[in-house]
Amino acid sequence: MSLPSSPAMPGQSLINGTHDGPVGMDRDVDVLVVGAGPTGSTAAKYAALGGADVLLIEKRSEIGTPVRCGEGVAKRWLEEIGLDPSNGFICHEVDGARVIAPDGTTLVLDETRAGNECGYVLERDLFDRHLAKDAAKAGADILIKTSAVGLRREDGAVVGARGEHMGETFDVRARVVIGADGFESQVGRWAELQTHLRTRDIDACLQYTMVGIGGDARLNDVYLGSCAPGGYAWVFWKAPDVANVGIGVNLSKIHDRAEAKRYLDALIARTPALAKGEIVEEVAGAVSVSLPLERTVAGGVMLAGDAARLIDPLTGGGILNGCLSGKFAGEVAALAVETKDASESALRAYETRWRARMEEELARHYLIKERLIRVDDDTINKVIRTIASVGMERVTTQSVLEAIRTRHPEILALFDGLL
Ligand SMILES: Cc1cc2nc3c(=O)[nH]c(=O)nc-3n(C[C@H](O)[C@H](O)[C@H](O)COP(=O)(O)OP(=O)(O)OC[C@H]3O[C@@H](n4cnc5c(N)ncnc54)[C@H](O)[C@@H]3O)c2cc1C
Repeated sequence: MSLPSSPAMPGQSLINGTHDGPVGMDRDVDVLVVGAGPTGSTAAKYAALGGADVLLIEKRSEIGTPVRCGEGVAKRWLEEIGLDPSNGFICHEVDGARVIAPDGTTLVLDETRAGNECGYVLERDLFDRHLAKDAAKAGADILIKTSAVGLRREDGAVVGARGEHMGETFDVRARVVIGADGFESQVGRWAELQTHLRTRDIDACLQYTMVGIGGDARLNDVYLGSCAPGGYAWVFWKAPDVANVGIGVNLSKIHDRAEAKRYLDALIARTPALAKGEIVEEVAGAVSVSLPLERTVAGGVMLAGDAARLIDPLTGGGILNGCLSGKFAGEVAALAVETKDASESALRAYETRWRARMEEELARHYLIKERLIRVDDDTINKVIRTIASVGMERVTTQSVLEAIRTRHPEILALFDGLL
């Protein structure tokens, strides 16, 4: 991102009134939301529904594109954030997933075995735009092609941000700033929240849109093992012969991000149903596979979604937690406006809410991910074969570990502490 020709650099305070941009775009709002991904639009919607005057800014020229996402989500997320699946952003419903071990053993996790973890493949561009439209309907103003380039502070507390639109800078005064600016969040760094990630807590991702491929589009495919070191590869279907074919590889397992491409290309080459297809799009990105940030609030500012490291460290899925945390942040921001208290202690209500809802699961999945990073192909084969052969009615962490305890006690130590 280019910086404004300003006396202050990102990370430093921008003092009220020192802007060098045109005063014409300066704004005074209750809540400024930075980033119109799923998290930011949901935050803007709920802050506006709570009665706040909201501005949502997005640096891209079009909300929702380019799509850098496998587009797979569990069903449960819809209800929780009050979204109706008939809204035109669902590509199709899937019956479950096929988990493929390195030796080719396949485990089908359908609705009876995986419950509401089964889900949908989204049209992510339409989904993001739907959420932005919802935010606008609730009363939020939206500015695209507009980047936050620094925070404004008074007496140590955040009181807004500096924006840049088409090369012009302006100041937004806001009682609360919500940083929903994704994996590379700058708002977090500017607010001096500890956002640093260890190499082993990042997965490098690469995804192709492939056409002319074969398979059973009712089930999404997940490939485990050394084909995707420390992560997994996926085939999430968009049509009977079109799919998002991607890979996430743990950064600690590779020398450079380009290696993710070599792994994905190798998997495609040795999978006949994929090898016959053509690549029509390629996107790269990264996801955090870490624990959430220790602090997601400071005076006048909250971080939500990927910016707060709320991606599920086991699946790399972040849409649900983004929307949920956005909802909580929006509601708490509206309350802060109403009570005229955006101090860190008032905003902690946000942190309490997201921790109560998702922290336990994120911590458990983080532990599992830490173990899986160390597991070799032979062990993965044993685990998948065990689950596939035991015929358990419901596949849960608990039931899997019980089955392993019975069939392969020699590898149980790997999962120590997870029960
Ligand atoms: C290859 C890949 C595949 C994935 N597949 C899945 C999947 O199948 N299912 C799933 O649930 N999750 C998946 N994820 C993760 C998912 O995409 C994210 O968790 C989700 O997008 C998080 O939403 P968000 O709103 O927090 O962040 P984002 O969607 O990243 O949105 C942040 C927004 O902020 C904007 N922005 C950034 N900085 C600024 C700034 N300074 N000023 C203004 N705007 C700014 C960005 O342009 C962006 O629009 C995948 C990720 C990758 C990389």
